[in-house]
Amino acid sequence: MKFLLTEKRFFIRVDFNVPFNDDGEITDNSRIVGALPTIKHVLLNGGACILGSHLGRPDGKKLELSMRKIIPELKKLLDKDVTFLEDSIGSHTKEICSNLKNGQIVLLENLRFYKEETMADIGFAKELSDLADIYINDAYGTTHREHASTATIAQFFGEKVPGMLLEKEIKSLKKLMDKPKKPVTAIIGGAKVSSKISVIANILGFVDNLIIGGGMAYTFIKNNGGRIGDSIFEADRLKDCSEILSKAKLENVNVFLPEDILCSNEFSDSGLQKVTDIYEVPEGWQGLDIGPKTMAKFEQVIQGSSTILWNGPMGVFEIPSFEKGTHTIAKSVAKATQSGAYSLIGGGDSVAAIKKFGLQNKVSFISTGGGAMLESLEGKLLPGIKALSQ
Ligand code: AMP
Repeated sequence: MKFLLTEKRFFIRVDFNVPFNDDGEITDNSRIVGALPTIKHVLLNGGACILGSHLGRPDGKKLELSMRKIIPELKKLLDKDVTFLEDSIGSHTKEICSNLKNGQIVLLENLRFYKEETMADIGFAKELSDLADIYINDAYGTTHREHASTATIAQFFGEKVPGMLLEKEIKSLKKLMDKPKKPVTAIIGGAKVSSKISVIANILGFVDNLIIGGGMAYTFIKNNGGRIGDSIFEADRLKDCSEILSKAKLENVNVFLPEDILCSNEFSDSGLQKVTDIYEVPEGWQGLDIGPKTMAKFEQVIQGSSTILWNGPMGVFEIPSFEKGTHTIAKSVAKATQSGAYSLIGGGDSVAAIKKFGLQNKVSFISTGGGAMLESLEGKLLPGIKALSQ
């Protein structure tokens, strides 16, 4: 970030959309922690911060989704006072923001309490912009949304820049998508082919190896003529699997599907379990994790890679009996990283998995954007990023 900071007020669009437990405690503060470098940079250089974010999907004003709930954690992390403003726009808010002194911070109320936010309303965006001199977008997790505070607002500022977190996210994607160090391996898992089909189609353009695991593998196996028993699959996506496999062949991408799997007669820890060939899953049984032969094969591919993308678990890792495949892949990605590979992990569940296994500090970069990262991988220029250069 380059600009003259002193005596300026910065509207920083942050992503403080953090999860809470039933006792109202934040269960994962990484999104707040991720925004701290930008906030501290502004404060240290004599600027004042006006922070704006959304929390959840309130559909009107819902007190349980008030940004007030973020204040204690933010104060603790910054070790500074933070003023909460109940209205994100209006004369009172404007007056407080125009009188902000250097080093002061305000946090606006949940921007999605205003329907104009998600409607990308130009009037609302203008009012928000009137609060500050410079616009910073540091909310990568919402850059795929064309909303008032993430996109529309930028046109009202002469100076508009990505924050430090957003810069890191963009840089990490560039490292993967623009001239990556080869061989490049993408590990794609998760429940459904449908949610990842455009991602897979686009990454075939730059990866050397594509590992497919998790529930989505069964649609590929069914399409290849396998017997998948009661495993999860999407009947309307068989054609997409054929197209992916043909495109991979055309692009010289090696595709690795599971060979053996751990299946059960119940979607729980308490059913019977056995390892079978993925092409021979008996009726009444469903595949819930990859098997030992598959783990060894996938590990071998990962250890031979210089750049690794991982999105989506290899099985139902939330159930202890079926976490081994995902755990093995997480350990393998960490090991490859230690040997010099660049590894990028993104998408809600793979991030949750790597944290569950305590390996979050052993990979090169963990993206804070689930949907945003998937859309970036689809090759789209995200509205929140585009707005900064217009
Ligand atoms: P996604 O959000 O598409 O990345 O999917 C993540 C979810 O896929 C996790 O909650 C996993 O439990 C689930 N999943 C992974 N493998 C399987 C499988 N073999 N059968 C059913 N669900 C699975």
